[in-house]
This record gives sequence, C-alpha cells and structure tokens, in this order.
Amino acid sequence: MKEIEENCGLFGMISGNPCIMDIYQGIDFLQHRGQQYCGIATFDEAIRQVTHYGKVGITFQQQELSYLTGNRGIGHVSLWERQPVTLHSKLGEMAVAFSGNVVNSEKLLKSMKAKGKAFQRNEHIEIISHAIMEESDVVSGIASLARKIEGAYCIVVLTRDAVYAARDIYGFRPLILGRNGDRVAVSSESRALQNLDIDVVRDVRPGEIVRLSEAGFETALQLPSPRTAHCAFEWAYTASIDSIIDGIYVQEARSRLGESLAARDREEGNLAADIVAPVPMSGIGHALGYHKGSGIPYQEVFLYNRYADRSYTQSTQAAREVMAKRKLSVLRYAVQGKRIVLCDDSIVRGTQIQNKVRDIKKVGAREVHVRIACPPLMYPCDFGISTRSYDELCAREFLRKGDILSLQELRKLESWMAVRIGADSVKYNSIDSFVKALGLPRGALCLKCWDGASPIRNRKKGA
Ligand code: SF4
Repeated sequence: MKEIEENCGLFGMISGNPCIMDIYQGIDFLQHRGQQYCGIATFDEAIRQVTHYGKVGITFQQQELSYLTGNRGIGHVSLWERQPVTLHSKLGEMAVAFSGNVVNSEKLLKSMKAKGKAFQRNEHIEIISHAIMEESDVVSGIASLARKIEGAYCIVVLTRDAVYAARDIYGFRPLILGRNGDRVAVSSESRALQNLDIDVVRDVRPGEIVRLSEAGFETALQLPSPRTAHCAFEWAYTASIDSIIDGIYVQEARSRLGESLAARDREEGNLAADIVAPVPMSGIGHALGYHKGSGIPYQEVFLYNRYADRSYTQSTQAAREVMAKRKLSVLRYAVQGKRIVLCDDSIVRGTQIQNKVRDIKKVGAREVHVRIACPPLMYPCDFGISTRSYDELCAREFLRKGDILSLQELRKLESWMAVRIGADSVKYNSIDSFVKALGLPRGALCLKCWDGASPIRNRKKGA
C-alpha cells in the first residue's frame, strides 16, 4: 500500500573522523520515509551543503561527496521540501532539517512577514528556522518551537560547534540516538544506525533537546510533555520492519496485528483458506502474523519488482498507479484455484487493493478474503504523513460523518467494502484490538486517523 507516505527522514552525526559516508548511507537507509528530495550539510570551517531532487542513491555524485568534508553533519530525505537549509544570523551559521508538519504555518508566515522576515519558498523549514533564530541561543530557539509551532516535528541542527536533535513535546515522529566509540548519531529510525554498526542507545524523549558531541550525547534541555502521542501508523506502515521505535519492534507489532486478525477469524468461525499472502511490502509482517495465528500456510502471490522505480519518483496519483502495476506481478502458480487471505496495512482510496484483488482473481484465485491491520481510516493526518483529504478516504463514502466505533458499524462497513473492492470478505482490526496489538497504552498514541481526536487540541475535527 503506497497511498500513504511519510514526509521526511532525518540523520545527524558527529564523529572522530570524516562522516560523509555515514551520513550518505544513513539517509539512504531512510529513503522509504521520503523520495522526492534529499540533502546533506557538513561542517568543516564553514557549512557545506548539497541538496537534490530525487533519491539519495541516484543523485549524489562522487565530487559532491568529496566536497562535503568534516566530522559532523546532518542529512535529510523528504517528500515535500528540499532540506537542510543553511542560514546566517545572530546565532551564527547553522543548517536545519526537520520531519513533521506545521499546522499553523499560514498564521506564522503572516506574523513573521509582518515583522520583516524574508521567505524564499514559504516552506515549513523556513518557518522553523526563523523561529529558532528569533531567540538568543540555539537551545532556546529549539525550545521556543514548542510554544510557536502547532503540529509535529523532529529536528536536527548543525552549528559551528555541535549537532542538536529534538523531538516535539508529544513525540509524534520517532528519533533515535546511537553510539559506537566516537561515532555518535541520531536517526529517524534505528535501521540506519543498526546498518552502520552504531549501537542503538535510546529514543529521544518527547520534549527533549539533545546535544551530540564526540564524547556522546547530553540532554541540553528537557521541556515538560503534556502527554505522549506517538504516531501509531509508524508501527503499522511507515517505519521499516527492521526498526525499533519507542521500545516496540516494528516487525513484532505487525505480527501481532496479523495475529489479532487471525484471532477474530477464529472467534467468528474458522476461515477456510488455502494460503495467506501479503500485499508487498507493507503487508508482509501482517501476513506472517496471520499465518502464525491461524496456521494457514504463508505464500507470496505477488513478485516485487525492485527495479521498477529506480530512475524517477511519482508525484501524481495516475503515475503512482502505473508504477504500482509495474511493481507487482502475480505469481500465477501460487494463485490458481486457491482461497486466499490477502493482508495489507490499510485502505485509503481503495483503488490499489481493488486492483490487487482483481489481478489475482483474473488469474484464477477461487476466493480472496482481505484482512487489514489498521482500523478504517476516517480522518486525514495533520502531523506529517502525506495529506489525504476526507474525499480521498474511501471509508468516508460509506459513512460521511462520525466514526466507526462500534463492532456493529465496523461489520457493516466491512460488508460494504468487500463489495466496493470485489473481495469475498473484508475485515479490519477494531481500534481496541489495534491498540492492544501495538502494545502501548492508548493514551501514549496518536490515533487521530481513526478516532479523529487530535492529541494537541484535545478535540475532534469534524468530518
Ligand atoms: S493522524 Fe494518523 S498518521 Fe498522523 S500522526 Fe496521528 S496516527 Fe499518525
């Protein structure tokens, strides 16, 4: 399922040696979090910066990597904005990159412009950078974001003498600290650290501002956190399955979500099926969990073409659909005559799962039963996952206003959705079973996609 996209991934490092290859590989390991832009800034007497439109592995040239000298730096991958940005101010030279979304960006832009501040592209990163530079030092500047910014953010800042990393006071997006000797790093996901042989030490705490140095890292400031609101989508879809976020392994969480779907099928009368299969790649962990919980054999039914999108990125829905077709081809031998449980993380517009069901039925699947790890998506995200409007959420075709909260409503939606996508049956995890499977308390999570409750404003956004 690629109808939902993260907007950014961050990496920062300070080392006893030149760090460019670590940062370059670090953001490459985070490429799944944003494929439109990438960039790196290092410090070597002055800040050196290179940004690109496109993916890390195909845009950076050797001479650019040679130019990015120095023992510390930051890197970024993004769906929306070209980052890092480098600025000169009374705080000195600094490069800034962030992951998240500034909900009150228009209001902030207006008031900052009224104060005479200049903007090149009216981007969120410019707002954040100006907000930091209004204060008397970098730590106070980062701390001021908590009162100025409504939304979600993780941030890395490169200055003449340090790398800083911070997570908003709710901890929406992940940010992980790691260390191996004099290589001290911070990353949006632990996989970048693990794959660079850097030991994962801990998550940056909500509201914490951390200063990285060759000696390690220290808390420069801890802001009070009114509550945590970790994005539940990270475990279900966004994060890579080899990552650990806020103490929960992504793969384990996905497996439990699949097991939970299998348990519901068991309770409601065993589903007679020959194989359980994933929609690659995001459905794999869920399908393995369903297999574990049901004992139904696991079998891939789609071949993933890893070379399908190496040369360019897709920004329109039509282009994404063409690419989706190139990316997955059906393994006919695995499908013909079979009753298949098909697992995926979520349904957004419904077109992709509908195409998958059609594709495997066309080559001879006898039955296709769709099992979805997340509850029905009822609300758009304000906090940094690529925007879907209410009109794009196909569950809203079924229920224009309100929430799917009772099991009875969920069952009605499931019957409607099965007809809508051409499946023999559809089942979702309920919000309660979803939270239970993730393994964190409900109050520690953002669940706004499903229940409409904004952790920030503590009120519902009406449909
Ligand atoms: S609204 Fe949804 S996608 Fe956005 S932060 Fe909350 S749970 Fe994550």
